[in-house]
Amino acid sequence: MAAQDPRTKFSSKQYPKQEQPVPGLQSKLEPKPDCGETSYQGHGRLTDYKMLVTGGDSAIGRAAAIAYAKEGADVAINYLPAEQEDAEEVKSVIEQAGRKAVLIPGDVRDEQFNYDLVEQAYNELGGLDNVTLVAGHQQYHDDIKGFSTEAFTETFETNVYPIFWTVQKALDYLQPGATITTTSSIQGYKPNPILHDYAASKAAIISLTKSISEELAEKGIRVNCVAPGPFWSPLQISGGQPQSKIPEFGQNSLMGRAGQSVELSGIYVHLESEEASYTTGQVYGVTGGAQID
Ligand code: NAD
Ligand code: MG
Repeated sequence: MAAQDPRTKFSSKQYPKQEQPVPGLQSKLEPKPDCGETSYQGHGRLTDYKMLVTGGDSAIGRAAAIAYAKEGADVAINYLPAEQEDAEEVKSVIEQAGRKAVLIPGDVRDEQFNYDLVEQAYNELGGLDNVTLVAGHQQYHDDIKGFSTEAFTETFETNVYPIFWTVQKALDYLQPGATITTTSSIQGYKPNPILHDYAASKAAIISLTKSISEELAEKGIRVNCVAPGPFWSPLQISGGQPQSKIPEFGQNSLMGRAGQSVELSGIYVHLESEEASYTTGQVYGVTGGAQID
């Protein structure tokens, strides 16, 4: 296929206003994000790898999980129990690709659950080559005074602490050649004033990625981070953005539109594949043009 114009490759139409409680469901989102269900083509870059993806039911995590399966990997996904329907859809795409899918619902704010999650993924997949941490919580607040300690805590408990817990447990299993991939955001570099806690948590993820990568290099384990810009997803319509910002979501990027999750698939795959064997401690921006610096 000839090269496509990135501005028109996906729709730049206004999104319909819509609201869902946390966690938003992809099955109820309109329009549906493209997570590579039919558009992603694998090339055997992760044949027989065993991968664990948190937040693997929808949008960005779903795109990573589907791409991994299409590249030849068996994949365990974690999500909240309320997202079972979305997770079942991902399972069927993974199985259509001829790979094993393991569904592990549970709340990553629970420390013990993170240890159990990694252990179950290892046992059911028969090994573990990668942990891809995508689960995240984002709620906007108009001002810092309107902010509760509970809200701040929930953001850090969802976005930051599970990195510690999953990595600690995964080190019981990961062998040289294994990888850990985290998910930050452009917000980690350019904080929006209505996303104080979220942006700070995403900056913490960048820092943790770098420190963990330095420690684990001597074990032959690579650790990298993906920092997306605006991607159309259930997170945005379940309190991640004010409703007034939904119609034009992503249109202020240099591409003039929001990203679609499949536009991140190749970066996640690359970071975990042999092609990236000299890459660790790096943050990859996929932002529609905004600089991550
Ligand atoms: P999403 O709603 O599809 O994904 C978030 C996922 O996090 C949910 O599917 C859910 O399974 C998981 N999650 C949330 N709280 C959890 C909990 N307590 N326990 C277990 N799982 C939990 O939305 P998305 O936009 O694909 O977000 C995925 C990641 O990408 C998040 O970390 C988000 O911060 C990051 N991100 C998104 C954007 C964007 O514009 N959509 C931009 C930058 C970064
Ligand atoms: Mg979801």
